[in-house]
Amino acid sequence: MFRLLTLSLAAALVSLSSPAHAQVRTAFPAERGLSIADFPRLVPVGEGVYAYEALRKPGFTTVSMIVVGSDGVLIADGQESNDATRAMLAAVATVTDKPVRWMVVGSVHEDHTGGTGALPADTVLVVHPDGLSQIKSGGRKVKIGPSAIGEVKSIDLGDRVVDILFLGRAHTASDLVVRVPDQNLVFMSEVFMNRVFPPMRSAFPKEWEDALQRALDLKAHRYIPGHGFVDGPERSREEMQAFRAAITHIRSEARRLHGPSPDDRPDWGEYASWMLADSQGPIALQRLSTLRE
Ligand SMILES: [Zn+2]
Repeated sequence: MFRLLTLSLAAALVSLSSPAHAQVRTAFPAERGLSIADFPRLVPVGEGVYAYEALRKPGFTTVSMIVVGSDGVLIADGQESNDATRAMLAAVATVTDKPVRWMVVGSVHEDHTGGTGALPADTVLVVHPDGLSQIKSGGRKVKIGPSAIGEVKSIDLGDRVVDILFLGRAHTASDLVVRVPDQNLVFMSEVFMNRVFPPMRSAFPKEWEDALQRALDLKAHRYIPGHGFVDGPERSREEMQAFRAAITHIRSEARRLHGPSPDDRPDWGEYASWMLADSQGPIALQRLSTLRE
């Protein structure tokens, strides 16, 4: 099988000692009753469409979407390393013998692009123009060939067409989301991280809320996150709303702390229990104070 995990990741998982419960809303694998041995895994989400959940440090999933067409396979978001990409390609090969021909870069961050070197050499990378200029200026370690392209609205996979959407600046200035119209599915990349405290280092939080609302207005049957778990259709919509509400709350906490009591501690409420809250909370406050949002 296609398993790829490190000892330190194993330690991180073991430390998450909560009771197993399949229905828990969380990004922590152990709280969902899952162990390292369950990953990576393919989750069928529609006809010829799969979510690929791989574990990475500090123990949450990085999700790619795989769409199989008659002319080849499209991958939405990659994995963090060449080894992780090879594991994903091995998983793809268990469901189709079509070659991977396209990869949409929903997030230019390295945990989604660090493995581009292991893709077939002629894979076309689809990148937002702003992300492409970041890559070309050397700011991102993404292996691209001459085939990387900027403004692409849709890709024809032969027997189906996939839409590439820019819903506005969100987690970064160049987030792309991918819609599979024939299944009414939307892969959100890092615009939606299921039960993960929103990482804001390079985010535009107010616009991020708007982008999430635009995605909700698409009325997709199901939303696939870039991190955290792939939930069922109805719950995926609820979790999108919860994630948007988290950004709203974080913004309002940041505004409150910039008021008369600057020594107040942030009250993240229920979001304090979301994955990465300890590390990302201070970063969010810093970013929001810089942006003055
Ligand atoms: Zn990421």
